[in-house]
Amino acid sequence: MKTQPPLLYGTVAVKGLSLDFYSRALLCNFYLLCGPGIMFDCGDGAAPMLEQRIFKVKHLFLSHHHVDHAGGLPGMLYARNTLPGDKEKPLHIYYPGGNGFLAEQVAFFANTGPELGFPVYYHPLQPGQKVAVDARYQVQAYAVEHEDICLAYLLYEQRRQWPTAYAALSAEQIKRHKTNSGSAYQDVDVPIVFYSGDMAVPCDGLPQPVVTVLVDSTFLSARDRMFTSHLAVEEFLNWAGATRFQDVLYVHLSRRYTPDEAIAFIAGHGQNRIPGSQRLLWANRCIPIPQTGKGA
Ligand SMILES: [Zn+2]
Ligand SMILES: [Zn+2]
Repeated sequence: MKTQPPLLYGTVAVKGLSLDFYSRALLCNFYLLCGPGIMFDCGDGAAPMLEQRIFKVKHLFLSHHHVDHAGGLPGMLYARNTLPGDKEKPLHIYYPGGNGFLAEQVAFFANTGPELGFPVYYHPLQPGQKVAVDARYQVQAYAVEHEDICLAYLLYEQRRQWPTAYAALSAEQIKRHKTNSGSAYQDVDVPIVFYSGDMAVPCDGLPQPVVTVLVDSTFLSARDRMFTSHLAVEEFLNWAGATRFQDVLYVHLSRRYTPDEAIAFIAGHGQNRIPGSQRLLWANRCIPIPQTGKGA
């Protein structure tokens, strides 16, 4: 029997979307939403892991220049140029405008552009800027502090929703409304995924509820922290108790912790009030976190 090699990256369901991922602090991080073709970060080795799936990527958003987040960019570009696949598919790359390291890389690739058989469009972004990648998806950039200039990203998906104002209507009233004005559903831009790279989740200005938040888990406890630009997981949990996050993915776990240590810390944290699911993405594995403390 012919056996397939194990996948080096993992796949997890995120509110109806499929997210391919690999997450190891200091080594490689990427998060690819295959449906809309949106990828957050492209760490070293992303292309050899994804192989043909690199052709799924239409819009690549880079949070910052560190090698575990952007070091896979050359491999992504050149693999798309050589592997069998849709070699004419354009690629849009968004990055924090003013980040010196990324600006140098972009200049280099832009200059070698004629060697690439497909169009690459580079988009420097500023904090607060909102990009409509297509008719259904928008991405908003947020300022975060880490090193040089960095951005966090919030993905919005347009979804058909039942207006909350109609929640109290009777079945008869709903029927009358549909007769008079057609469908009662409305198209609403729903914040579905927030990704902040290596940085703190900004506590202010984030719309609620964000359905899925990818939390930098480099440091579980603030006591372990080496750089102030990271938010410790315990600080996230202290803050998140007042929010309505429905789905939390802890990512980018430091190698100083084992997955079991991280899960025990998160599940046992006294301020853990996340009302929905919590999962740890560790390398290519997705590990559920027990919901102790929920609703307390
Ligand atoms: Zn970094
Ligand atoms: Zn990192």
